[in-house]
Amino acid sequence: MTACSREPEIRSLLDRGHWPAAASPELTAHAAACTRCSQLLLLTQAFRADRTRAAASVRLEAPGVLWWRAQLRRRNADLQRLQRPLLGAQIFSVLLSLVAAAIFLASQSKATLAWIAAVPHVLHFESLLPEPLQSPLGLAALIAGILALIAAVAKALAYATSETRD
Ligand SMILES: [Zn+2]
Repeated sequence: MTACSREPEIRSLLDRGHWPAAASPELTAHAAACTRCSQLLLLTQAFRADRTRAAASVRLEAPGVLWWRAQLRRRNADLQRLQRPLLGAQIFSVLLSLVAAAIFLASQSKATLAWIAAVPHVLHFESLLPEPLQSPLGLAALIAGILALIAAVAKALAYATSETRD
């Protein structure tokens, strides 16, 4: 296989990406007829097609997808930050419900009321209480006060948890 005199011309056109658009009809006809030049064209075009295919497969991720993923991540973080005070409020409402249930049971069940009233007499707690609280009315006021205190502490706890987590 001997070197062809037209080969540098064809190679130059290929390197600049001007083949076959800028090639003269005479040169195209020569490339089709000449073994050396047709092989050069075949090899170059095969390598070029392979490179194009490889470049297409290593495509970067679309910016829209990246942006959407970042938005989703930020929204999840916002949701978690929002749910923390909600948890505190839920704890508070559960405690309040327990207190309400206790008040309801105490007011509805005569047996419960009698038991609560009996406890100080059995254990003689009334001797520890100041004189005004030893009457049934005073005892009821004391229970109400304790329940109010529990509610206040629960509220303060719920407030504190929602404050420290932010
Ligand atoms: Zn040739």
